[in-house]
Amino acid sequence: MSAGPSGPEQNKGQPGLVSAALSGLCPRCGAHTLFGGAAQLAEECSACGLNILSLERGGRFVGVVTMLLALVLILAALGVDEWLRPPLWATFLFWGPVTVASVVFALRFWKTMWVYHQYEESQP
Ligand SMILES: [Zn+2]
Repeated sequence: MSAGPSGPEQNKGQPGLVSAALSGLCPRCGAHTLFGGAAQLAEECSACGLNILSLERGGRFVGVVTMLLALVLILAALGVDEWLRPPLWATFLFWGPVTVASVVFALRFWKTMWVYHQYEESQP
């Protein structure tokens, strides 16, 4: 898993956090059980029974992350609009999927990071 040309920004302290976020890996057993929905954490791991909900106590920050991301996307959209002056349909066609994908990925990554952090904290 660790081999491969995945670039210089590999963080050795937290291996595979991005892939854990993308595939929703349980921090305890590594099964694909972390998410119940696109960006919704499962209540518990169906493989090892780890209580994921109890680890997700940073839920109040999720709104902040979403709002910051929305702000960045809006500014980016305004910038592209100024720069290229695309037709309105092209704007919606492009930014609709980009927005949804960015928000889902950001939420997944944020929640995975948080749950992994909480899980490490809870270890003796
Ligand atoms: Zn598990």
